[in-house]
Amino acid sequence: MSQALPPLLNPWQALKTRAQFAGAVPLSAFSRLRSELVDLEGQLDYGLRFQRDEEKRGLILGWVSGQLRLTCQRCLQPLDYGVRCSVALALVSGIEEAKRLPEAYDPLLVEDAPIRSILLLEDELLLALPQIPRHPEGTCHPPVSTDLPKERHPFAALADWKP
Ligand SMILES: [Zn+2]
Repeated sequence: MSQALPPLLNPWQALKTRAQFAGAVPLSAFSRLRSELVDLEGQLDYGLRFQRDEEKRGLILGWVSGQLRLTCQRCLQPLDYGVRCSVALALVSGIEEAKRLPEAYDPLLVEDAPIRSILLLEDELLLALPQIPRHPEGTCHPPVSTDLPKERHPFAALADWKP
């Protein structure tokens, strides 16, 4: 059975009980992601499970998905973006252990103390965002500004120098 993630979670404890979590987090709860968003209405769904692999590594596997409203960097209008990313973290207690991980896992350096569980989702989400969000090519245009004075032709200045 899956339950919602508690705000604070001790990953090592969750691993011992092979905990499974599922639920939804409001967008406004993501402290770093929210600065990228135009609209904080809505939520992201997730599922996470804690388990050990055959080499006894502690893993957190799952996914997070939902709709985000970003800003198109071409027309500066809202851009609806469906995000779905997988979570594949390996619990490590030191840098050396992190270096030995297979590439499939991102290291999660944790001590034997609770962490803010939303971090398990947010780090992956931030990586999954497009670097430069834009509507598909040809479907939008840069905003036309009418306030700015017309750019002076570079040779106009030279023309002023004419005797
Ligand atoms: Zn656009």
